[in-house]
Amino acid sequence: MRLPHAIEILVNAFERLPGIGPKTAARLTFYLLHTPQDYLDRFGEAIINLKKNTVECSLCHNIVQEDPCSICADSHRRRKIICVVEQPMDVVSLERTNHFNGVYHVLHGEINPLQSIGPEEIKIASLLERVREDKKLQEVILATDSGMEGEATAMYIKKELVLINQKRTNKFKITRMGQGLPVGADLEYADELTLQRALEGRRKY
Ligand SMILES: [Zn+2]
Repeated sequence: MRLPHAIEILVNAFERLPGIGPKTAARLTFYLLHTPQDYLDRFGEAIINLKKNTVECSLCHNIVQEDPCSICADSHRRRKIICVVEQPMDVVSLERTNHFNGVYHVLHGEINPLQSIGPEEIKIASLLERVREDKKLQEVILATDSGMEGEATAMYIKKELVLINQKRTNKFKITRMGQGLPVGADLEYADELTLQRALEGRRKY
């Protein structure tokens, strides 16, 4: 006996999500079968509008409602300090600390040779472009995760930044956020106080 087509389609769709195997995909699908139709309508609509109603900020690459995003457009933010993070959720976490008044650059990932993700696959080129163009830049904070890939990403970017710095008279600082963050920790899961301390305790890199 085969499953109804509608069920098969959804099971397959769930299976494509990270961390979800065939069993979980089936469990989620059958769970949804037992929820009211209006919940399913809203669920479906949320998925349909997910990309339609969001845009990538052309400056910092954060996923937002308007381009440029409210942070890049805010004249009270210090544009001379760029905090480099891996994911949009990291921006949300850092904003919650209320202790950062600079701007961001979202990489959308980390360098991971095992998954064939090289520097070209994430937003490093546009970061370097931003840095090159801004002759008054004061600081770049590397706030990638503290795991192996996050460290490798920070290291790669640092190397490129040092080269840019060598060619200019107006040097900027390169710092690494991490103190207080557990090794291997994802930024987005850190609590506000830990993040605040990590931000304040950033060191020359
Ligand atoms: Zn932006």
